[in-house]
Amino acid sequence: MIDMSLFEKFGPGYQPVPAPYFNPDTIIITRGSYQTPQQCNLAEAICSVYPKARIIEKLDRPHNRVQLDSPDHLELHYAGKKTLVLGIHKSALRYSDEDGNTCPNYWHFSPYGFCPYDCQYCYLAGTPGVKYSPTVKIFLNLPEILNQIGRVASQLTAPTAFYLGKLQDGLALDSLTGYSRIIIPFFARQRYARLILLTKSVNVENLLDLDHKQNTILSWSLNPPEVSSAFEQNVPSPDERITAMQKCVEAGYPIRAVIMPIIPLEGWQKIYSNFIGNLLESTPLKRITLGQICSYSAALKLTERKLGKNNPISNRLEKVKSNDGRVRFPLKLRIDIYRYLIDKIKKLKPELRIGLCMEEHDTFKALNMESAIGCCNCVP
Ligand code: SF4
Repeated sequence: MIDMSLFEKFGPGYQPVPAPYFNPDTIIITRGSYQTPQQCNLAEAICSVYPKARIIEKLDRPHNRVQLDSPDHLELHYAGKKTLVLGIHKSALRYSDEDGNTCPNYWHFSPYGFCPYDCQYCYLAGTPGVKYSPTVKIFLNLPEILNQIGRVASQLTAPTAFYLGKLQDGLALDSLTGYSRIIIPFFARQRYARLILLTKSVNVENLLDLDHKQNTILSWSLNPPEVSSAFEQNVPSPDERITAMQKCVEAGYPIRAVIMPIIPLEGWQKIYSNFIGNLLESTPLKRITLGQICSYSAALKLTERKLGKNNPISNRLEKVKSNDGRVRFPLKLRIDIYRYLIDKIKKLKPELRIGLCMEEHDTFKALNMESAIGCCNCVP
């Protein structure tokens, strides 16, 4: 039984506006999109904000079976970024399945799929589902997804995270859907379930007046301007992201930063030092998580198509994969980078909790940080 009450309260009243940094030329409406009047309304309202887009109905096809017509991986990738797929996701709530590194497993959910931004290092772009169907997706069955979360949440006995931002940007499409205005009040009513939302978006206007009860933790993925301008295209600048963070601090949300992937450009010590100094002095953070490249070969091939084979990421990567099948920088380089940045953070904010993302046990051991294993962005 799907509880439609939240959707009825907020859904039909929300007027979509175009999502910044996203201008689809095609919208494909897939199986299940019209299963309720509310979904029909939302699909129609989203289509209406892109009057120039070609609208195609493929109601016999699930969202993950939309094929775009290009044999070339890079062309396919960019065609996907211009294609919005509307559909439903029956298994949008999942428990992660990390193995071979120190990451904890955790609940994550997907009202969206993939992302309109264009980060050259994007790991998600090379994952099997996205590689096959690299479209930007909005799943219209949000009440069903929240009911799945509610069922798990009702069994909890301790604060537990539900992560939005693992297989998508958590906020980039919010101005199209208004979903934050349903999801955040939903989590505000939960005793133990906590929303952790990871984004590079600065579209926070929908969030600022909500009664979130601090059950929503907002995390921004950040890099210094020098790194962002070299490796992040079609995305809000780091300064804009920090301004959005500050607005959300004022609205009472707990705020975190994820500095990832740290890319050791020439002069990285000064670049990251300045950036972290400015960030910590301007923005009260509850946690900071550091991470480096930890990608798969399909994603790295795409990175090399965008940047050329001789680029500052590929040039530093190890030739052999780690135990979890990912490719990383050599252990010594990773440790040197973390040691330098952690030292900087501790001098400025000794009490700030520091996490490392997607790291191996040897890294924590070398940094004398084994007690911080599992204290990352994915947990409350
Ligand atoms: S924001 Fe994340 S998902 Fe989107 S392109 Fe950048 S790295 Fe990929």
